[in-house]
Amino acid sequence: MTNPLSDRINSLPISATLAMAAKARELKAQGKDIISLSLGEPDFNTPDFIKEAAIKAINDNYNSYSPVDGYADLKQAICTKFKRDNNLTYNLNQIVVSTGAKQSIANVAMVLLNPGDEVLLPAPYWVSYSAIATLAEATFKEIPSTIETNFKITPQQLEEAITPKTKMIFFNSPNNPSGTIYTEEEYRALAKVLEKHPQIYILSDEIYEHINYGTPNFSFAAIESMYHRTITVNGVAKAFAMTGWRIGYIGAPEWIAKACTKMQGQITSGANCIAQRATITALEAPVSNIKYMVDEFRKRRDMVLELLGKIDGFKLNIPGGAFYVFPDISAFFGKNIKGHAIKNASDFSMMLLDEANVATVTGDAFGAPSCIRLSYAASENQLKEAIRRIKEVLN
Ligand code: GLU
Repeated sequence: MTNPLSDRINSLPISATLAMAAKARELKAQGKDIISLSLGEPDFNTPDFIKEAAIKAINDNYNSYSPVDGYADLKQAICTKFKRDNNLTYNLNQIVVSTGAKQSIANVAMVLLNPGDEVLLPAPYWVSYSAIATLAEATFKEIPSTIETNFKITPQQLEEAITPKTKMIFFNSPNNPSGTIYTEEEYRALAKVLEKHPQIYILSDEIYEHINYGTPNFSFAAIESMYHRTITVNGVAKAFAMTGWRIGYIGAPEWIAKACTKMQGQITSGANCIAQRATITALEAPVSNIKYMVDEFRKRRDMVLELLGKIDGFKLNIPGGAFYVFPDISAFFGKNIKGHAIKNASDFSMMLLDEANVATVTGDAFGAPSCIRLSYAASENQLKEAIRRIKEVLN
């Protein structure tokens, strides 16, 4: 007999990014020489000035519960950051600090969505968006895009996807997995469509904003007509190499922020107090402090694009930000590679794991079944070796 788990958990897919990372770890532990390009996680250490702030917080006896929505001085630092980097004006009542941007997104979905509501997901999208919408008992609808349009959707596609049941849309720029960045002009054109549909709320996930190679970032909430129905999500994981510290935050209309605080008050309480104190230091520092990491990511991006570009059958876009490449590998569908019948991107990704010992993530999980995702947040040597192995297997 199977265990009597809830329908909720039974219908929830496993996170494809975390599952592949776990599989790579398991194979490594068995002694296999695996190169993992699966997880989107900087391979840098958290900068010393942030670590020191955390040590100081421990010594200063930050050991009690924080306010559920975060320390007031952290929320002030977030407001200042929003003004400085995004030209967004928020007051303290509009900020909620959570255990990672993932919890921030889950809070928003839980407080806004009812069973039967529809969430629009411009594809490709991060694996957990669809899962979180499902957890909130909403349905999700993908708005497809392809590498030919640099993975961007058009205003017309958006218009056609909207129904009276549409309650939310998730934007993510720079995008995980494609690295695509929407310009201000493109966002304004999408906003024009949304202006006609006042029942729709916009979640703008800007977690990769600082991992940007030159296209100016534009925050969706900076569009005046969208501000009162946009939730801006951000966090310190990617920019400050703080993935394990688990601090995310939102800037949102007060009534949404208040509801998120109520939600998290019943589930996790305030985020980790030491990590919150360290986040103040991270956010107050000039952005130039983390430039060395972004410069390194850009070097790796250029190298990966050059090397993968030499492999027949890999179609690539030029990611403007984040640390992923998302090649279209559909040219291999229907082929047999080293005894593996390649019917789809999952077969291709598993074949690479088995034959090249390289872990990637299948595009199916991101709503883009022609692609696979490779993270280049790994060392230059590992990246070179991984691509050498991929090339060898495909030859
Ligand atoms: N966001 C990262 C990724 O896409 C971390 C893993 C996860 O939470 O999905 O790889």
